[in-house]
Amino acid sequence: MGINHLSRLRFNFGFLLEAAMGTSREIELAYPTIQIEEVTLTPLRGKFQATRTSEGIYLTGTLYSTIPTECVRCLETMNLNITIQLDELFYHPPFGAPEGASVIGDSGIIDLEPLVRELALLEVPMQPICRPDCQGLCMECGHNLNLGDCGCEEDDIDPRLSILQQLLKGEE
Ligand SMILES: [Zn+2]
Ligand SMILES: [Zn+2]
Repeated sequence: MGINHLSRLRFNFGFLLEAAMGTSREIELAYPTIQIEEVTLTPLRGKFQATRTSEGIYLTGTLYSTIPTECVRCLETMNLNITIQLDELFYHPPFGAPEGASVIGDSGIIDLEPLVRELALLEVPMQPICRPDCQGLCMECGHNLNLGDCGCEEDDIDPRLSILQQLLKGEE
């Protein structure tokens, strides 16, 4: 992210830092699409609550989106539905916050882009598949078997295996 990058998930919670403990504000997001570095989220919508606590500003809520992902079986790009659970305390003042914790300075500005990006990427499984019964690609010709049969012989046996099979037969 360049220094001139304008985050669309930048919020000013200065008013909440000044407010009494327990004061909260609901924020609704409804972006048709949003780009955070290499991550495209389409759409990004949902609501979250920002609450002033004794430790800082606590954000909690649920966002909904889809993220383009490649199916490991058929290699087609699909839009994976994801749910982003926001549950983060931004310590104020930053001084004295636990190491690695999120903080909010006197400016009251929180940029949620890094957090939303990280949480969105965590929602993508290691082995994403476009649907449970995805047929994948033909091992012979690479045809996408979800689009129908390619005509390759199903019982084609690897020539090396067929030699082995003959050897085994000879031993019987
Ligand atoms: Zn697939
Ligand atoms: Zn084939």
